[in-house]
Amino acid sequence: MMNGSCLCGTVKYELNADISQILLCHCSRCRKATGSAFAALTLVRTEDFKFLAGEHTVKHFDSAPGVGRYFCQDCGSPLFTKRENAPELLRLRIGTLDTKLPATPIAHVFVASKAEWFEICDANPQYAERP
Ligand SMILES: [Zn+2]
Ligand SMILES: [Zn+2]
Repeated sequence: MMNGSCLCGTVKYELNADISQILLCHCSRCRKATGSAFAALTLVRTEDFKFLAGEHTVKHFDSAPGVGRYFCQDCGSPLFTKRENAPELLRLRIGTLDTKLPATPIAHVFVASKAEWFEICDANPQYAERP
């Protein structure tokens, strides 16, 4: 069991799953949503994710039709994205985890739209869009 929370601590969640891969998404929407070079995320099953507190402060913004980005409306922490056509999966923003993660394989996705000022300096696989 893993636990996570937003920056202000209002939202708390638990995750009953092992994280098998971390995706670093360099798409322009993730850059806007994080204010950084990429978003660090992993795919989890919606049924494995449970809010422990603060669900009422979670809002979402659709960055594309049917793609909801869920965040804490008090502090702005991005929590996950959920797609209308695949509501059984969440793309969890793993920077919100409080539990330490074991070393986990990484892949870079949407590298075709990565920030020109950021250089990928590791040997992990890179995909122009999705793998
Ligand atoms: Zn918050
Ligand atoms: Zn992205």
